[in-house]
Amino acid sequence: MPETERTFVMVKPDGVQRGLISEILERFENRGLKIVGAKFMQMDRELAEQHYAEHEGKPFYEGLVDFITSGPVFAMVLDGQDATRQVRRMMGDTDPAEAAPGTIRGDYGLDLGRNVIHGSDHEDEGANEREIDLFFDEDELVEWDKIDGSWLY
Ligand code: ADP
Ligand code: MG
Repeated sequence: MPETERTFVMVKPDGVQRGLISEILERFENRGLKIVGAKFMQMDRELAEQHYAEHEGKPFYEGLVDFITSGPVFAMVLDGQDATRQVRRMMGDTDPAEAAPGTIRGDYGLDLGRNVIHGSDHEDEGANEREIDLFFDEDELVEWDKIDGSWLY
């Protein structure tokens, strides 16, 4: 079995409102990433402020917290080889105007504020584990193997 890692991914309120959860999930499943946790939830301000603590003080911070708490989100934990970096590549650039066509933000994002999806930063060591811990209790994550281990992981 190849070594895998877990990463945190979230469909933001704009993605939920636009009915993009299944479309986004399908891309990750097709790519071979394994769902080990998922939660449809409303973030409160406290959670939003913790989640985006690195951006506190930036001009867009208050608007970002308002936006991420403006409606439900779909949070998930995905497991796969190099999952954090792979998810970021599938998401595309933060700014949809720069994101390549074929990426999630490149295909669906409207602007910087409404870019549909969050994924842990692969350049921020340990961000994936911190974010998983922030959103999920250990007993909400499911350890499982795909049945044919010679083809799938
Ligand atoms: P990413 O979501 O790609 O990791 P960042 O961590 O830099 O990007 O920023 C977090 C989120 O804050 C972005 O997804 C985006 O929605 C928002 N954001 C970032 N920069 C700006 C900006 N200059 N103006 C408005 N919103 C921004
Ligand atoms: Mg980030």
